[in-house]
Amino acid sequence: MSATENYSIRVEPTQQSRLSQVDFNNLKFGKILSDHMLVATYEDGAWTDVSIVPYGDINVSPSMSALHYGQAIFEGIKAYKFQDGTISIFRPDKNWERFNTSAARLEMPEVPEEIFLGGLKKLLATDNKWIPNAPGTSLYIRPFMFGTEAALGVHPSNSYKFIIITSPVGAYYSNPLKLKVETHYTRAAEGGVGFSKNAGNYALSLYPTRLANDEGFDQLMWTDASEHKYIEEAGTANLIFRIGDSIITPHGDTILHGVTRRTIMELAASWGYKTEQRRVSVKELIDGIKAGIVTDAFAAGTAATLTPIATIGYEGELFQLPPVEGRDFSKKVLTYLDDLRYGRIADEFGWNLIVE
Ligand SMILES: *Cc1c(COP(=O)(O)O)cnc(C)c1O
Repeated sequence: MSATENYSIRVEPTQQSRLSQVDFNNLKFGKILSDHMLVATYEDGAWTDVSIVPYGDINVSPSMSALHYGQAIFEGIKAYKFQDGTISIFRPDKNWERFNTSAARLEMPEVPEEIFLGGLKKLLATDNKWIPNAPGTSLYIRPFMFGTEAALGVHPSNSYKFIIITSPVGAYYSNPLKLKVETHYTRAAEGGVGFSKNAGNYALSLYPTRLANDEGFDQLMWTDASEHKYIEEAGTANLIFRIGDSIITPHGDTILHGVTRRTIMELAASWGYKTEQRRVSVKELIDGIKAGIVTDAFAAGTAATLTPIATIGYEGELFQLPPVEGRDFSKKVLTYLDDLRYGRIADEFGWNLIVE
């Protein structure tokens, strides 16, 4: 990695740490923000003024372009603390690459490695004490960027802010999911922005998701825009199925290419499973459930790592998946990733970025 000196990251420490007010035994996801944030400004074609400052409100113009035309992208990453105090960030290089892929699609500037990864390491070193180390806990990291130009004409913003905020999170447990196969609304179409992690992809999902919630489902299982026949992903996570002896995940430009999904597929391959990234039709899945050959099914994402799917609703019918207790593949993945992220086993793939 290149030196951070190029951007000489300024640190302005807080005068009033909020650390002592935090109940680390009772953390609600994303509610508590750490003392500091990293802020960088893009102006006149260059990144300037990269600084770590006390977390707090920022001033924006009411005519700021992101508010009107939606140039806004983000990432989600987790850092862990080993028993010996070592800080480790899980595969943030993949998030950095994806961030710049999202930026390019929305005609936004790239963020250099020195600012994204170098800045992140320095931020975590500054807020080291905010990284919890009880079993299952971690620090959730939210990098994001948005257009800040104050002008109402539709054009790419000529100025941007890149910010990283962090939030300590508790052990995550969520009940097995009841998903509804969405056959009317669409999350992403070919040629669109489904693969980019942009704010708009979430805004458009809220209404259809609420309708599904009203029917008793936890989340949607999105399908392709043209026929609604092929499975894409869940609301905020990718989908992985074990059908027969294959570990399968849908693929294409209309889904977000998750780091968790990639990690699990790479692990599966290294363990000798047959892995496939391809289109999966709703029919294939439902026929497989009926035939008893779907032995594992889960949503994969940074927030929860892996959330089992219990029930799938399709055109008014409910289909039950096998009991969670018997899902060997999910269990093996969870145990392995837990051990790796807390430094209990050797990092054979080089996925832990250690903060010195
Ligand atoms: C972030 C995200 C995921 C999961 O990606 P990870 O890198 O594994 O956290 C999946 N789908 C969508 C729509 C997302 O925004």
